[in-house]
Amino acid sequence: MDKQRDFVLRTIEERGVKFVRLWFTDVLGTLKSVAIAPAEVEGAFNEGIGIDGSAIEGLTRSYEADVLVQPDPATFQILPWRGEVDATARMFCDVLTPDGQPAVADPRNVLKRVLAKAADQGFSFYTHPEIEFYLLKSSELVDGRPVPVDQAGYFDNVPGGTAHDFRRQSVRMLEDLGISVEFSHHEVGPGQNEIDLRYADALTTADNIMTFRAVIKEVAIEQGVYATFMPKPLAGHPGSGMHTHMSLFEGDTNAFHEPGAQYQLSRIGRQFIAGLLTHAPEITAVTNQFVNSYKRLWGGDEAPSYVVWGHNNRSALVRVPLYKPGKGTSARVEYRAIDSAANPYLAYALLLAAGLKGIEEGYELPPEAVEDVWSMTDAERRALGYKPLPASLDRAVALMEESELVAETLGERVFNYVLLNKRKDWADYRDQVTPYELEKNLSLL
Ligand code: GLU
Ligand code: MG
Ligand code: MG
Repeated sequence: MDKQRDFVLRTIEERGVKFVRLWFTDVLGTLKSVAIAPAEVEGAFNEGIGIDGSAIEGLTRSYEADVLVQPDPATFQILPWRGEVDATARMFCDVLTPDGQPAVADPRNVLKRVLAKAADQGFSFYTHPEIEFYLLKSSELVDGRPVPVDQAGYFDNVPGGTAHDFRRQSVRMLEDLGISVEFSHHEVGPGQNEIDLRYADALTTADNIMTFRAVIKEVAIEQGVYATFMPKPLAGHPGSGMHTHMSLFEGDTNAFHEPGAQYQLSRIGRQFIAGLLTHAPEITAVTNQFVNSYKRLWGGDEAPSYVVWGHNNRSALVRVPLYKPGKGTSARVEYRAIDSAANPYLAYALLLAAGLKGIEEGYELPPEAVEDVWSMTDAERRALGYKPLPASLDRAVALMEESELVAETLGERVFNYVLLNKRKDWADYRDQVTPYELEKNLSLL
């Protein structure tokens, strides 16, 4: 008997776990759950549990609706918000076809495939997300706008504030679930918060992000507020990004780190960034998958709109953060476009694929941008070769459709599903007549 499986079965027994939730994720990044009795867990490890996959966005075609979900024992945790008595645990699952093969449309499998490719080249991929979100009084709108829980700003210490208690309770729950938190603070927007998770391999990080979203929603319910990961809930205030710091390791060595090089960044690191920049426009429909995502990307407030890299440049899409003396091997690159509503498995698969492509093809890194790219004129940006990110979901989908890298990385099924789903999003949006248009045009025309 596998040691990890054995540990899970023993813990279920010892802690009196009554329900085991099997978690998996659909193509759009929605967490799905099926609860099984403890007696079923051993069978689930061995053969998987059959479920009707047709309810899961993008996972199956209607003529092959049944799938198996097989729990990953390494992800076993007891859910703190369900209490100690008759406890509930969860495990993330791999989705399999009825004959036991990895389901091509399982986002976890998409990421695993790219991680395996990186491993063939000797690399493991580590990520660290900074997750931003808004706390609102409720999901109800007042005068057509959500109402944030406070009016505080960047790093504000909110007196007696909800945000504090909220972050404290969330961090405690995350730690109970084995997820280390590096940092948490109030963000720039009213009611906006940020929690940064510690470095982990990308598959663990993606699982942790899914858990994080569930924890934040649970704590919000407990505290009578509403949490949202919507990319831009309030016009005129910053959106919620999920900046992700990345590095490749060869064994114990950070492959991005080269002492003495500019920003301590190795050739591999430079090529990885060049890969990100080259392929950024075509992966944006996945890293920024909603109509609303583009309101964030083009709404200023420190969200990137142009494909440039820089060091301490907050207008850059890719940033090489400050090198910390004493943190000898901490060289890393930060990708700033991705938002808090992305499917982390698919987004990380594409970021890694883009970076690896840069290494495989030996892409040259263009000069860094030292100026504030937002305040330049179009002509100035054009002269320096600074290209824009797509300005709408429509444009992003058109660029993705042409992308060999995205098609190859996601696999045909996920690729086609995302295109179909996102085209529909755009068509639905295009059909709307918004309050903006009515206000602007009705009385004039
Ligand atoms: N909220 C900003 C964004 O949408 C990021 C602010 C920051 O630099 O942390 O990307
Ligand atoms: Mg932030
Ligand atoms: Mg950041």
